[in-house]
Amino acid sequence: MSNATTIATIRGIPIRVHISLWIILPLIAMTGPYPPMPWGLLFAVSLFACVALHELGHALVALKKGVRVRDILLLPIGGVAQMEEMPSEPRDEIWIAAAGPAVSLLLALLFGFIGMLLTLSFGPQSVFRSPILSLPVHLAFFNLILAVFNLAPSFPMDGGRIFRAWMTPRVGKVEATRRAAKIGKIMAIAFGLVGLFSTNFFLIAIAIFIYFSAGAEYRAVQFQDLFMRNMTSFGRAARPAPAEHTKQAPREYTHTQPPTSDSDSVTAEPVKDAKEVRRINGVFDDLYKDWH
Ligand SMILES: [Zn+2]
Repeated sequence: MSNATTIATIRGIPIRVHISLWIILPLIAMTGPYPPMPWGLLFAVSLFACVALHELGHALVALKKGVRVRDILLLPIGGVAQMEEMPSEPRDEIWIAAAGPAVSLLLALLFGFIGMLLTLSFGPQSVFRSPILSLPVHLAFFNLILAVFNLAPSFPMDGGRIFRAWMTPRVGKVEATRRAAKIGKIMAIAFGLVGLFSTNFFLIAIAIFIYFSAGAEYRAVQFQDLFMRNMTSFGRAARPAPAEHTKQAPREYTHTQPPTSDSDSVTAEPVKDAKEVRRINGVFDDLYKDWH
């Protein structure tokens, strides 16, 4: 996304802030539990730093599993870790998906511990009256909610990926995804209703995002399944190493269009050049996204 600024690069992963977040950050600062300046702003920045650490948890485990990570993008409704491919092993997907909530849980414990020490030292009254002393307590709750919320067994939450990877050997990937997406849509409707009744526009925005992401994930997996079933030597050809992109298009990578569901035999066309291979691979670039 071009409307984003890179604020840091960790292990080659750019952490980018979308322009909408720069605009909305003062609003979050004003609606938080503190006076806007400087504590409200510190609070808002801290929340997104926690989201970035959650995403970084996914990204670093993904790198370890050999999955390329394009970037981490921070948006007003949360963060997105954009990975360039699906982990081939369901077990790897579980590790990658679990890493984010694990980071949030560790942060909740760390801030909870600091909050407890401050409460014991200064007393609960002083802690809750002071913006700086109560910050760890607020961050502990925020990270706890982030971990628990993301473990819901629905797309596009992390729990949806864990659920899908766990269900895949039993019912197949498409059916497992369909179930996780269905739960995601039900959750989105529930959030949307709560958002409407409480006039919470963030919640409504999140609900809309969850609803469409859940559907998109299912369609992407359906499409990939159809594509794979009609490909020869797909596993080797669909994801050639970067060097192969530019040097020589694999000869067995022959289909240039996704097959339709009623075509059992797809007319094979030879791939013309490396650009064509990149174009086809690009179809899968948006498959694996993580969001909170
Ligand atoms: Zn996550």
